[in-house]
Amino acid sequence: MSFEIFNLSLELKKALEKNSYKEATPIQKEVIPLIKSKHDILAQAQTGSGKTASFVIPILELLKEEKSTKKAKIKVLVLAPTRELTLQITETFSNMSQFFEKKPSIVSVIGGESIGDQLLKIQKGCDIVVATSGRLLDIIDKKQMDLSNLQYFVLDEADKMLDLGFAQELDTILEIIPKNRQNLLFSATYSKKVIDIASKITTTATKVKIESKTTHVENIEQRAIFVNKENRNALLKHLIKQYKFKSVLVFVSTKRATENISYKFRKSGYLAESFHGDLTQEERVYTLEEFKNKKLNILFSTDIASRGLHIDDIDCVINFDLPRSTEDYIHRIGRTARAGKTGVAISFLDNDNLAHFKLIEKRYKLDIPKEQIEGFDFTLEKVKKQKGPMPVKGKRKSKKDKLREQGLK
Ligand code: AMP
Repeated sequence: MSFEIFNLSLELKKALEKNSYKEATPIQKEVIPLIKSKHDILAQAQTGSGKTASFVIPILELLKEEKSTKKAKIKVLVLAPTRELTLQITETFSNMSQFFEKKPSIVSVIGGESIGDQLLKIQKGCDIVVATSGRLLDIIDKKQMDLSNLQYFVLDEADKMLDLGFAQELDTILEIIPKNRQNLLFSATYSKKVIDIASKITTTATKVKIESKTTHVENIEQRAIFVNKENRNALLKHLIKQYKFKSVLVFVSTKRATENISYKFRKSGYLAESFHGDLTQEERVYTLEEFKNKKLNILFSTDIASRGLHIDDIDCVINFDLPRSTEDYIHRIGRTARAGKTGVAISFLDNDNLAHFKLIEKRYKLDIPKEQIEGFDFTLEKVKKQKGPMPVKGKRKSKKDKLREQGLK
């Protein structure tokens, strides 16, 4: 469906054209008219569905219709779980408003960057604040932000916020923003916790659900290759050479492993870097830019990159280690085949992780052929039946239990 039906202003149409947005995605089709006609919404949508533009476009359109004041007042507050997502939302706002005669002023409020610069921009007057909650609260504590004119409150990737123990921070924010506002919530899933949070924010929202979880997963060729752990580096090099991959995102389970492997690949002449939560904000931004501009061909990352990152043209996502949570599998592979393109996602399997991979397949009704590659011999062991009860996640055996098992107690 083309964007024509939304009756958007000329300036927005020009921005859509410049960004080659020709057809509205399903979430945009549903959400844009609802926001334009001032509804609160609870939308269930994945990253990669076009959800950012689905709120940015109508908010900008509504802002345009308002009379401008001499000094800009904060009318829009968007909360997002990570710094990267925050910066991407900010970019979408400025990108979409690039042809406005009076461009809205947009500030990213995130940790890891100078608070002074952010305060300065806020004091000068801004229309839109896109923030992570920690830094936002620091600024609120300093009484340096006037949110009394707020009209639009957006919570993006609400399910991701729960991991960060966000409920209390939200209470503080809700106390100081006007009660009369439009609320827009986006979440990939609606667990009880997300619904609890949503109910604090709005009770009158229209619910929008974009059915297919795997909207663009259809464009991803999913493969699974057996390889012994010690041969994974060699297999990765083999695949990169065979398929001439120019942009590969490799998921590894620990920060340290991303550092070690990227170091080894650099030593072998690859343009590789690591990406994880211990990097400074500057390092993160710089590394992502280099990866986007193809100055880096391989990015070894923890799951920090599995959600919300827009990097077009990633040829291949590799699950060097499988994700712990089955849900992260879909988020990870969704980093490739973005915006209608195709891509490949390859999972490295061995005797230890095969059962876990089968769980992922079961959850998403997948049946991915298990391959072996010539030159990478692998012996598949019979899946051993576990004796006794399954170990409970997060519950370690006590010394007493271990002794008991050995018959020593
Ligand atoms: P999101 O779901 O917000 O993470 O967006 C995913 C990607 O799709 C981003 O790179 C957007 O720039 C792109 N995108 C969003 N909407 C459209 C559209 N209607 N046409 C083409 N690309 C789009």
